[in-house]
Amino acid sequence: MKYHDLNIQTQREAPNNARTEGFAFLVRAGYLRRENLPTPLGEHTLNHLRDLSNDPSFLSRLSLPTIGDEDEIFLPIASGLLDVAHCPECKYTERLELARFAKRATHESPLPIEKVLTPDCHTIEALANFLGLPKEKTAKALMYTRLSDNKLVFVVVRGDMQLGEAKLKQHVGEVRPATTEEIEKSGAAAGYASPIGLKNTMIVVDDLIPQSQNLVAGANESGYHLKNTNYERDYSAEIVADLVQAEAGAACINCGSPLSVLSVIDLATRSIYHFENILLALAETYHDAKGLTLPHPAAAFDVYLMHVPGKELDTRLNAEEIYNSLQEAGIPVLFDDREERAGVKFNDADLIGCPLRITVGEKGLKDGMVELKPRKEKDNSLIRLTGLTSLTNQAEFWELIKDI
Ligand SMILES: [Zn+2]
Repeated sequence: MKYHDLNIQTQREAPNNARTEGFAFLVRAGYLRRENLPTPLGEHTLNHLRDLSNDPSFLSRLSLPTIGDEDEIFLPIASGLLDVAHCPECKYTERLELARFAKRATHESPLPIEKVLTPDCHTIEALANFLGLPKEKTAKALMYTRLSDNKLVFVVVRGDMQLGEAKLKQHVGEVRPATTEEIEKSGAAAGYASPIGLKNTMIVVDDLIPQSQNLVAGANESGYHLKNTNYERDYSAEIVADLVQAEAGAACINCGSPLSVLSVIDLATRSIYHFENILLALAETYHDAKGLTLPHPAAAFDVYLMHVPGKELDTRLNAEEIYNSLQEAGIPVLFDDREERAGVKFNDADLIGCPLRITVGEKGLKDGMVELKPRKEKDNSLIRLTGLTSLTNQAEFWELIKDI
């Protein structure tokens, strides 16, 4: 295609809303508008990626530093809107809200239950401070109402952990926080609630609760808690499941190494590709100080072809000849056919980041040569014009340039 066909508009400055270098270069190189909408060049590149995705090994061919598994593939990036838990050792990766981790059980003999006065202890923090106990010796109660049947869902997790609502919803369906009235109707006392002695409620506990003994829980009476509550002896649950949220440093469920929490963008979910994110991932991964450095086959155009307007020879005509030959051979080429100064075109070529640049200039042309420069190399090589104008297929082209 020709530069004008795509109406390419490059920018000298990064947009002031750029969250990352990759995004800034996509805008500066004219793939995206600053509103994050694709330009014709961006659309063309997205379509190219869509075509490539017919190959099942498509993402691995792009050589991006992805994490994930066959279900979901992510690229870590500081401005990513998703968080995942990731194990640097065994590569376990899961959305943070659903990530599992190894929990540490305690092994104590159950002690007799004991009711204690705990005035103004409405939070786990205050309760643990008041009793001089670590938070892991407490049971935290959270109350929801299930939308489908208005049932009170009474959740218990250990006091040192946070409930993951996404995990809870996987087991009980959609819920909303219970009202004070709903809580009281079940026999629980807000702020001092425990599952002991409740009626008409669905009790759901984190799977660490049956493995933790002698926990402090509410007494269902304002101002009082119970010491030494034990699952099974004192109450039981309809559902015992993993309900708590993983955090950085938690032990990996597979190998026990500390998990990292990473911000990511998602590139694929169960073989459905998110092409806009893949384009951003390419830009994040492949750029230098001057612009994008897209590799083959990620780049929509393998060649950036340009002529430097001459005084004696018609460089444009020769470039046109190369353009036609490359097109016929099946090599995707972007022809910068503008009558612009060389510097302007070189800058744009660097921004747009095709793997190869071919430059037709007067000096070389006098010897029948044109310049060829891989985007990531510093220096040009000279190549015979006739080699480029007599191509019949792609293989011939790659053979011609293989030593450069
Ligand atoms: Zn691991």
